Amino acid sequence: MTENSNQPVAGFSASVNAMYDRAVALMDLSPGLVKKIRVCNATYTVRFGVRLRGAIHTFTGYRSVHSEHMEPVKGGIRYSLAVHQDEVEALAALMTYKCALVEVPYGGSKGGLCIDPREWEAHEMEQITRRFAYELIKRDMINPAQNVPAPDMGTGEREMAWIQDQYQRMNTTDINARACVTGKPLNAGGIAGRVEATGRGVQYGLREFFRHEEDKKAAGLSGDLDGKRVIVQGLGNVGFHAASFLSREDGAKITAIIERDGAIYSEDGLDVDAVHLHIRETGGVKDFPGATFEPEGAKLLEAECDILIPAALEGVIHAGNAPRVQAPLIIEAANGPLTSEADTILRKKGCIIIPDMYANAGGVTVSYFEWVKNLSHIRFGRMERRAEEARHQTLVDELERLSKNQQVAWTLSEDFKTRYLRGDGELELVRSGLDDTMRTAYGAMRAVWHARDDVPDLRTAAFIVSINRIAASYQAKGL
Ligand code: GLU
Repeated sequence: MTENSNQPVAGFSASVNAMYDRAVALMDLSPGLVKKIRVCNATYTVRFGVRLRGAIHTFTGYRSVHSEHMEPVKGGIRYSLAVHQDEVEALAALMTYKCALVEVPYGGSKGGLCIDPREWEAHEMEQITRRFAYELIKRDMINPAQNVPAPDMGTGEREMAWIQDQYQRMNTTDINARACVTGKPLNAGGIAGRVEATGRGVQYGLREFFRHEEDKKAAGLSGDLDGKRVIVQGLGNVGFHAASFLSREDGAKITAIIERDGAIYSEDGLDVDAVHLHIRETGGVKDFPGATFEPEGAKLLEAECDILIPAALEGVIHAGNAPRVQAPLIIEAANGPLTSEADTILRKKGCIIIPDMYANAGGVTVSYFEWVKNLSHIRFGRMERRAEEARHQTLVDELERLSKNQQVAWTLSEDFKTRYLRGDGELELVRSGLDDTMRTAYGAMRAVWHARDDVPDLRTAAFIVSINRIAASYQAKGL
């Protein structure tokens, strides 16, 4: 319940580094710079005590800074009993590459606390979080100009609000205090659309993939997302939103959902929102009506489908099960769900993998919008909204005048008028910014993939794009 002595699960950093090495082997960088970019700059470990339930409990937390080629550095804080130094460092490295790929101007960082949040009451979690935040703030490891955390597994808006408040108390004269953390609730300086941003990003990324005939063909797929059979592992914040949007808005069929207690499947497709509710009410997927239950959930990773979305933990597809995975297309909604060995095995089988650093970048992209909003001290769209509406009204008036003059028998639908005359303001801007980011980054990645015969896959291409940008940034600094 308190101090956790997890042994590092071998190889998450090694796995990320192996993929990095595969990419740099195809690049023309000095060995010194290759090493400088790969290494993790620093990891701070803190052990602190909190008096709870009449006793002192000691907790272990980490904040790792992988690269400061741009500042602030950015990345979530994870609450889980599996947190350990190697995991935090690997996740920080992925943040560096992710931010560079989607062009958000940050270095990479990540934090973690060894804790099972389900074991503590809300007021206890607040005490623990504030104390952890205090330790990190003291050392500038939470700071709007230097290091900006965000939610990750086991944390959400609630924790971010506590962290933000803690920072504000300790830095009462910092006018940019709100920008010290992202993923806050709307009423504490958050931004519309941040909670679902990573899931939205997965959806936008898949939509973009399906716009390219050549890429679909490489996976042996055709058409669009409508009717595609999708297996999702993990119905947490990322998996739930991705699956829900894909089924409700794109017509995809979620044929299996893998959770902690097992998996459920149905060839007719599962109602994602209903499954989500069932998990909230019962703690698992078992007994979900109308679906078949499989207690050994991981088996479903190997089932036949069109798209596999691992959206839970790292390392779930490894050398042991990769040879049996049948999905022709995998989109890594989680960070590091495939080990480097699994990645090699699957690539050889012809599976197309949309890599994590691209697939789950929606979260940090919208975090960036939130940070910019906090620094500018104004809600997006606040100043332009009426002007925008007036422009749209002029357009509609003109269309109506034209239609009347030419006596064309059509009128503008109410839906058109609502959509064009009254946008959703901030949410609309966030979505369009995210969509644009996902399209642009995919374009950069696929351009390298298709232009070079020696670049075998999207992940290597993503690394090349990202490392080139980081290298340019270091070189510009004179390193
Ligand atoms: N934890 C998320 C990630 O792994 C979001 C990070 C952020 O918004 O800074 O990308």
